[in-house]
Amino acid sequence: MSFKESCKWIDSRQEDLLNNLMRLSEINSGTSNLEGIKTVADYFRSYFSGTADSISEIQSQSREHTDISGNKIKEEFGNLLSFKKRTEAPIQVLLAGHMDTVFPLSHSFQTPKKLDENTLLGPGVADMKGGILVMLTALQAYEASNHSNQLGWRVILNADEETGSHGSAETLEAAATTADVGLIYEPALADGTLSRARKGSGNFTVVATGQAAHAGREYDQGRNAIMGLYSAAQKLEQLTELENGITVNIARISGGTAFNVVPAAAVLQFNVRCQSVDQQHELDAKMKAVIHETAQQSEVALEISGGFSRPPKSISPANQLLMDWVVESGKQLDIDVQFKDTGGCCDGNNLAAVGLPNVDTLGVLGGQIHTADEFMLINSLTERAKLSLNILQKISEEGDRLQALSKRDNKN
Ligand SMILES: [Zn+2]
Repeated sequence: MSFKESCKWIDSRQEDLLNNLMRLSEINSGTSNLEGIKTVADYFRSYFSGTADSISEIQSQSREHTDISGNKIKEEFGNLLSFKKRTEAPIQVLLAGHMDTVFPLSHSFQTPKKLDENTLLGPGVADMKGGILVMLTALQAYEASNHSNQLGWRVILNADEETGSHGSAETLEAAATTADVGLIYEPALADGTLSRARKGSGNFTVVATGQAAHAGREYDQGRNAIMGLYSAAQKLEQLTELENGITVNIARISGGTAFNVVPAAAVLQFNVRCQSVDQQHELDAKMKAVIHETAQQSEVALEISGGFSRPPKSISPANQLLMDWVVESGKQLDIDVQFKDTGGCCDGNNLAAVGLPNVDTLGVLGGQIHTADEFMLINSLTERAKLSLNILQKISEEGDRLQALSKRDNKN
């Protein structure tokens, strides 16, 4: 098939893509619903079986973290799916998507609904079941077109992106080191704008341990864990530098027992965002200093855990070239592609951190994600599939330019 015929073929898939998306949206796949995740994985596995050379399931890793009550929790995640094609080709593309959504089984938002001719409301329709369908359609079209064998690809679908990809980051990062380009299918904004640089994000927990005492009889013998944390929280919040893109959000605090007891235990959770890796390292050191200093002054033991699961994504020259190609590919299809920086994070952060140039919002157009008003624009299923097909062809033709730039990036 020529490019024109491939585009026609993609257009002919519109109705079927919409039906598949509605079926997928109905299957709950909140990150913690491992059974639902498996059903969605099976769906994609059979949907895609004819296009890849090999399909495998990869076990995700579990993680331990401290919850708001101070308990250490072991968390399990759904398995990843991996599809490969032409692993020996000189140019390798990694395409990534996530099967999980932010909506647990207990949430009221469970079914898709067509709002009008071009708007579909539903859990995961934009973020990002629609995006995965865009990705798969583009690959199907690429394989059916007069493609070059210069390009091989690997698709990885993970199941825990919405909680920070703790169980899948290692697999994704390992895959990134053997790839030349990353394409990720998070939704674009409803006006079609894609994300450029992204802030890094870290979640931290501080557990405070003081000394309990009767508030009336032995007040002076107590060491108040809540007050220790309160003091730490104030100093942590002051690390915010809005003008430099650094924010510290004191998110949750819990502790204490009864009115007449000096509290011996309290827990604080906070989120930190920043724009560069240098800022990230500086913040790490400052936070540790705050915790150390406050523990000494308040005589409350403070233990900090957590870290930056999403390093900042800045734009390397290779990444800029890839973005230029996306804009060019859009122009050929009469799509005006714009890029904008964002404070939000996704797997694109982690792939960029290991040196993989990537564009991470190649999915459907949509909005209100993570809310019960999540919607996507129906005609963007085929529009964005055509865009991705064009990008794949561009990469297969000129991927060596990107490889040369990436090598130079790594040397710097
Ligand atoms: Zn997402």
